[in-house]
Amino acid sequence: MPEAAESEFWKDIKPIDKVFQPDALPEVYMPNIATDDERYYVPFTETVSSRPLWISPQQNKWCDVLYAKKAGLVNRHYHPHEVFAYTISGKWGYLEHDWTATAGDFIYETPGEGHTLVAYEHEQPMKVFFQVHGPLIWLDEDGEPDGYFDVHKYIEMCRRHYDQVGIGADYVDKLFR
Ligand code: FE
Repeated sequence: MPEAAESEFWKDIKPIDKVFQPDALPEVYMPNIATDDERYYVPFTETVSSRPLWISPQQNKWCDVLYAKKAGLVNRHYHPHEVFAYTISGKWGYLEHDWTATAGDFIYETPGEGHTLVAYEHEQPMKVFFQVHGPLIWLDEDGEPDGYFDVHKYIEMCRRHYDQVGIGADYVDKLFR
């Protein structure tokens, strides 16, 4: 049960007895995902970091909070699959599009899109909730493939960082679903 109801109209409703199917994994509740504790943000590029929230090695997907304290760049890359984003704070966009996102803005990137992510100088850091379906294919200046980034590289990157900052590499394993 979450917090007990007082006057709410649903206070006498009973929770379901059989919550999880036998092979279902537990839910995730993670408070304060956009924390200011910088240890949780794993350096991704020189100027942009990522806090992992949920990782699916089987689906090559992850959810994270992308973070840039000042101006930031995730250089050009291609997505064969979809990406969803919700802006928590700061200001950001893609060089390839004509919108600029600030707090409250939702973005959907369609499978088959290449782009260059930029974060602006702003009084608030850029914090964006992302749901990414990997891989990202890095692109060179001519737009040709130049390496990739996927969930397995993400896991390795996060484990190394969390080990270094004292959170512990196994923190990452708790995010797997
Ligand atoms: Fe992207």
